[in-house]
Amino acid sequence: MSSEYKATIGLEIHAELKTETKMFCNSKNDPDEKKPNANICPVCMGHPGTLPVINKEAVKSVLKVGLALQGNLADYTEFDRKNYFYPDIPKGYQISQYKYPLVSGGELNGVKLTRIHLEEDTALSKHKGNYSLIDFNRAGVPLMELVTEPVITSAKQAAAFAKELQLTLRYMNVADANMEKGEMRVEANVSVSKDSKLGTKTEIKNLNSFKIAEKAIEYEIERQTGILEAGEKVVQETRGWDENKQETFSQRQKEGSSDYRYFPDPDLPKLKLSEIKEFGSIGLANEIPDLPSEKRELYRETGIKAEDVEVFVQSPFLGELFLSAVKAGASPPITANYITSDLIGLMGGNIKEQKFKFSIKSFFELLRMLSKGEIGSRAGKDILKIMYEEGGAPKSIAKEKGLYQQNDMTELRALAEKIISENDSVINDYKSGQGSALQFLIGQAMKETKGSANPQVISEIFTDLLK
Ligand code: ADP
Ligand code: MG
Repeated sequence: MSSEYKATIGLEIHAELKTETKMFCNSKNDPDEKKPNANICPVCMGHPGTLPVINKEAVKSVLKVGLALQGNLADYTEFDRKNYFYPDIPKGYQISQYKYPLVSGGELNGVKLTRIHLEEDTALSKHKGNYSLIDFNRAGVPLMELVTEPVITSAKQAAAFAKELQLTLRYMNVADANMEKGEMRVEANVSVSKDSKLGTKTEIKNLNSFKIAEKAIEYEIERQTGILEAGEKVVQETRGWDENKQETFSQRQKEGSSDYRYFPDPDLPKLKLSEIKEFGSIGLANEIPDLPSEKRELYRETGIKAEDVEVFVQSPFLGELFLSAVKAGASPPITANYITSDLIGLMGGNIKEQKFKFSIKSFFELLRMLSKGEIGSRAGKDILKIMYEEGGAPKSIAKEKGLYQQNDMTELRALAEKIISENDSVINDYKSGQGSALQFLIGQAMKETKGSANPQVISEIFTDLLK
């Protein structure tokens, strides 16, 4: 495919906030509620005569995200009615923000943000053949919408942005943002163009995973490029992703914002945020934890491998374990290696927080024994496995299983002499300059000591004896 055309992508990402209650009423906000229509009330069901009340926690969450992403927090803000008819929207309008979003501007992963605003989620429709059911548990759940500028240039970059946003929301504890649960939903606007003027865009909806988002954007870039190269025009429309066919398909021609007849909701107060104490940016800033980017920098500074850095950024639980071990004096590369390959292996690849049978102190002790060369790397792995499966302290395990490094020189020398006397042909190979012969001898010694000898020391002994 010709590379003459360059892609431009802008993302619109919705995330359900994990507040106790819904956006404008006291109904519980529980995405895990399995019973349909359990968490509803006259307000979120849109009964006439009811009045909405703004959920402060939701406003605060969005302001905190805005502050963390270096956006401008609004001083004046209001909520608008976005009018449209659909069975999942009980009032006949969705309360959203139009002219005065809570946050304007900002940046994440080098991508400029347009805005972040707050709205209410719709109910969930379940289509069953010739009829549909509606679950209103989700109706009125606080929903944050983040819009980026059209500045993303590849499908990969778009997916990376969405992943970093998910992680950031989780670090901040404002959203769980599981895409497969619909707690975070990504819409991608895609266009291609030969020059600096942006082309006609399409908007792809229903992207339920990072992988699907990436594939759908990739597909859409190629599709549009094909259309333009054939001298035809891209139609501005909303498209969906067909997972079976692995292609996007036309859903509907996009409605303009004028179709929604936005107007300020007369039932809700306008907010002058500087006059509301708990929304002051100093107080909010104190509630923002270290962000993924800051943690990434911290891990990087310890000099560990880039892949290990990313594991710790993705798993704050293991990241904290790593940092506390290093703080306790353990070697960063050894610690990183034991966590990312051995411990995660024992955890079955699941990097989520879990309770270990061993104490953190025991883990530090194991790393200290390794760093000091008291035990070899093989023994370290075996001890960690026992600690993981049965608990226990590394010193007693090492003693019990005879895993302490044997660095008794006289003993090792005697062993080396014995091995030399039993392997005439290998010794001849060694003398005729075959490098692999020495490896074989070291291997024999490691076997005899059950891996507890230091291979470097053994190697020196052999070289010395065979001089
Ligand atoms: P609309 O009015 O159609 O909703 P907006 O201007 O509100 O469009 O932008 C919605 C999203 O589409 C934003 O993320 C924006 O960055 C992106 N976008 C706008 N124009 C383009 C374009 N030509 N190509 C790709 N993305 C675009
Ligand atoms: Mg728009």
